Amino acid sequence: MIGVLALQGNFTKHIELLKRLGISSTEVRYPDQLNEVDGLVLPGGESSVISDLIVRNDLLEPIVEFSRVKPILATCAGIILMSKKTNDSRVIPLNIFDIEIYRNAYGRQIHSFIDTIQVDLNGTTSSIVASFIRAPKIAKLGNDIEVLATHNGIPVAIRNDRHIGLTFHPELNNETIFHSFLFQMKKKVDTLSAN
Ligand code: GLN
Repeated sequence: MIGVLALQGNFTKHIELLKRLGISSTEVRYPDQLNEVDGLVLPGGESSVISDLIVRNDLLEPIVEFSRVKPILATCAGIILMSKKTNDSRVIPLNIFDIEIYRNAYGRQIHSFIDTIQVDLNGTTSSIVASFIRAPKIAKLGNDIEVLATHNGIPVAIRNDRHIGLTFHPELNNETIFHSFLFQMKKKVDTLSAN
């Protein structure tokens, strides 16, 4: 079972995409629900609002604990939350990705865009369509961060072992490679814990 953080933002699109892949998922709002899922999606939305709700629902430490053993796929606002440092003090960083990231760094809504990017994931290169919506920019890469894709020289997809972070929205273009990866990682964690 994959959990989708459902505090604010476009979590339903992720649930629909997972359903189309035949992967069962559930909405996560409270800490206890994390015990029932093997992987987590942190969706896009408004990172300052989601961060506030994470704190209010006592999810901050439980998500960090979860990330120590289980995989997370973070998109847009999600990757902002996963970072070590942002340019907005209202966002309490989960500090799961050793990156520095700037919110709304491409400009306002009018500067949102769609483009084709090349993604290198698990030895396979895919050309995908990516929607950048009031997207953040990764400004600094720290330890253990693998860049999976760039756009105009800026990293837009990163991986740290079992976690993936994207500054765009794959769920809006029915792009499934990252959700499939999350499911693969979940299976890997299942195998390790069974041995
Ligand atoms: N601009 C949003 C933020 O900074 C992120 C946008 C998104 O998730 N599409 O939180």
